[in-house]
Amino acid sequence: MSSEAIRTSLPFPQPGPAASAVKLLLVDDDQDNLLALQAILEPLGQELMLAGSGPDALRLCLEHEFAAILLDVRMPGMDGFETAELIRSRKSSRHTPILFLTGYRSDEQLFRGYDLGAVDFLFKPIVPEILQSKVTVFVELCRSEQLLRQQAQALARTEQRFRAVLEAAPDAMVITDESGVIRLANSRTDSLFGYPREQLIGTQITLLIPNWKAPGREDFDGDGSALLEARMSGIRQGGSMFPAEITRSPFDSSEGLLVTTAIRDATEQVEAEERTRRINVELEKRVEERTSDLTRSNEALRQFAWAASHDLQEATRMILTYSQWILRSTGDKLDEENRERLECVEENGARLQTLLAALREYIYISESGHQNWTTVDCNAVVRTAMSHLGGTIAEAGASIRCLELPKIHSVEILLLQLFQNLIGNAIKYRSDEPPEICISAEARDGAWVFSVEDNGIGIEPQYVEYIFGVFKRLHNRQYSGAGIGLAICKAAVERLGGSIWVESTPGRGSAFRFAVPERSAH
Ligand code: ADP
Repeated sequence: MSSEAIRTSLPFPQPGPAASAVKLLLVDDDQDNLLALQAILEPLGQELMLAGSGPDALRLCLEHEFAAILLDVRMPGMDGFETAELIRSRKSSRHTPILFLTGYRSDEQLFRGYDLGAVDFLFKPIVPEILQSKVTVFVELCRSEQLLRQQAQALARTEQRFRAVLEAAPDAMVITDESGVIRLANSRTDSLFGYPREQLIGTQITLLIPNWKAPGREDFDGDGSALLEARMSGIRQGGSMFPAEITRSPFDSSEGLLVTTAIRDATEQVEAEERTRRINVELEKRVEERTSDLTRSNEALRQFAWAASHDLQEATRMILTYSQWILRSTGDKLDEENRERLECVEENGARLQTLLAALREYIYISESGHQNWTTVDCNAVVRTAMSHLGGTIAEAGASIRCLELPKIHSVEILLLQLFQNLIGNAIKYRSDEPPEICISAEARDGAWVFSVEDNGIGIEPQYVEYIFGVFKRLHNRQYSGAGIGLAICKAAVERLGGSIWVESTPGRGSAFRFAVPERSAH
């Protein structure tokens, strides 16, 4: 029977194979035998291809890859052995398992068959279960091979991608094992260190980074990852050194713990840092020079102001004394106009004297010298301030409520200046109502905040900072004063390391508050 006849009588490929089915080739010149084989193997669910002759089988081998070939030994023309020899001679089918089907046992046949690479012999009549189980083994083998091939391909693709990422990295990337032996390096590594890559593989990374250390167990996070950054020295081929930013990142692999080390040349960064450091040092030096210049000129100014105020006070005292003396001795001889002029001289002399006294007090308070830090009972300080202001308080009918104040580590004279000026102002700038003043303190954010609140005339919001300046006043003739009380308060509170401010509603009253750092009183 010709193979052609079988081809037409048996349509190829036969029964629809399952998705992962492999191909099996059945070769026999006897169509009945072929059909019998087909019937036995169909339950395996694989793709069966039938050939009625050796040449037919060879043709199919050219077009398909088979998991196994079942080959009848006795066939007219090209017998099974010749067919097997030709199948084996082709590269694509060199390793395809061949099972010979034969009618009788002969050692000669067996030797020849095994010589030609037969994997097994099956003797007719065929026992279906044996055939099925033998073929199943080859089907499984082929499937495993296919799976392995797919996995190898996937692995190769992943590795390709990995290498591409490695190559695209802007840094030199070196993969080592835990002991620092280089397994992989990208081309940036060649250009950064000057070694050909092949030479680096297998050598110690310490050749490039002498202080390199593998991450220890302590470097891993709870989730098992770790990223270690450090600055180390890198050594190029030839021995020149450069600063390098190193990032080590360990990862577990099938080959054990591997470490990816990214190395970046930090020469420019280090130079920039050095430039910044030098600029900072230079700036600090200049600030220091300026500060000491300023301190010197401040001190000179202070001394000048102190001396000037002293001399002016003397001159003022003379003006005042002589104008008063002339008024007393010749007052009745002067005409009205000259008498008024002389009174004006006396009045302004007295005012000048007040201003100079206030100025000297301000200079005294703001000088850095007196810093007698002790434990101060603020309740006692307020009592002293009130006794100094006794007449004023009584005259104004002021009621003063002082809540419990703390004992703090401070400078008593400065606190006295503060309370006396603030209480004095609270009375002076009273409204038509009798003055009601409340003094309190609260601890806030590591500071003691003291408040002196009144029900006086209040301050327009645009002046709340202005009034703390030297000689800054909002009312001239209407209220007496030198305009220096709040400047003294500001200087005093600054000496104590704090700040002062006012919260006010015009017509309703003001709350002057000052905060000083909370220091524990002994
Ligand atoms: P002086 O009282 O001598 O004018 P200060 O420096 O003590 O100088 O005060 C500056 C200005 O702040 C005062 O002229 C006044 O206008 C305003 N001032 C101070 N305390 C109060 C207050 N408790 N209520 C309203 N205005 C005040």
